[in-house]
Amino acid sequence: MTDRYAVIGNPIEQSKSPLIHTAFAQVTGQDLAYTKVLSPLGEFAATVDAFRAAGGRGMNVTAPFKLDAFAYATDLAPSAQLAGAVNAMKFEGDKVFAENFDGVGLVRDVVHNLGCPLKGRKVLVLGAGGATRGALLPILAQGPAELVIVNRTVSKAQELAAIAQTQNTGSVPVRGIGYDDLQGEAFDVVFNATSASLTAQVPPLSISAFAQDALAYELAYGKGLTPFLKLAQQAGVTRLADGVGMLAEQAAEAFLWWRGVRPDTRAVIHTLTVPLV
Ligand code: NDP
Repeated sequence: MTDRYAVIGNPIEQSKSPLIHTAFAQVTGQDLAYTKVLSPLGEFAATVDAFRAAGGRGMNVTAPFKLDAFAYATDLAPSAQLAGAVNAMKFEGDKVFAENFDGVGLVRDVVHNLGCPLKGRKVLVLGAGGATRGALLPILAQGPAELVIVNRTVSKAQELAAIAQTQNTGSVPVRGIGYDDLQGEAFDVVFNATSASLTAQVPPLSISAFAQDALAYELAYGKGLTPFLKLAQQAGVTRLADGVGMLAEQAAEAFLWWRGVRPDTRAVIHTLTVPLV
């Protein structure tokens, strides 16, 4: 019997998840159907209940429901607990297992696909929202030389740095600061995990924040050369990436979790890539 999965959000029309998971199912020979579910605001639980009652096996969760899914889950993985948000659910009887694969997807894209190890590198993350929360543990697990979180609202960066320190078994130095506090420091890897690019804005980052040979990674995807990536170019950075690989890799992690088989992401990344020009 064909197993049913879906992505839930509002709006949902823009979601690439059906395309990605359908491609994964084809290449791995898995018998599943993956659709989009538009949930009315305030009706997340009822919409998921109906999907489960109709035999649904699992869901991805996108904006604005990642916190609703956190509340709905019965069994939260550490990744979801730290992120305070859920992006994948698996239904087994009364149980709702919940994960957040955004961070592992990001790190796998950088280390595996882009060939950029984080071990021993100075890492800067711009933004202190949900994406940064999800990325903290997976980045720390790579053993960077240091991790700095910089945010417009400084208290949020400080709060995340404090949380990261409590989870930080490898004693990586972690700081949460404001943009003015960067004071000419340079980083080997700079992640733009702000939502500024979604409105064609750029965080107030000095070009001196990019070390020579740095990787500038924009978490937003499909937007070509964003203002952040242009800033990196002005700094002389030639290694630029956007979040299309992160999107594909978090999907692959969910697929593995649901189906027990890891799909190759290369074809999907190729299909979804918008050139950075
Ligand atoms: P949130 O809304 O949770 O957080 C947004 C963050 O951006 C906040 O820290 C906010 O600062 C900061 N910010 C917004 N505008 C500006 C600005 N003009 N200048 C400086 N800082 C700004 O967003 P998410 O964490 O969910 O998403 C962040 C990005 O990651 C988005 O671009 C999203 O598309 C992308 N993403 C990509 C994924 C992928 O698979 N590729 C998956 C998930 C997210 P403040 O706290 O001061 O308001």
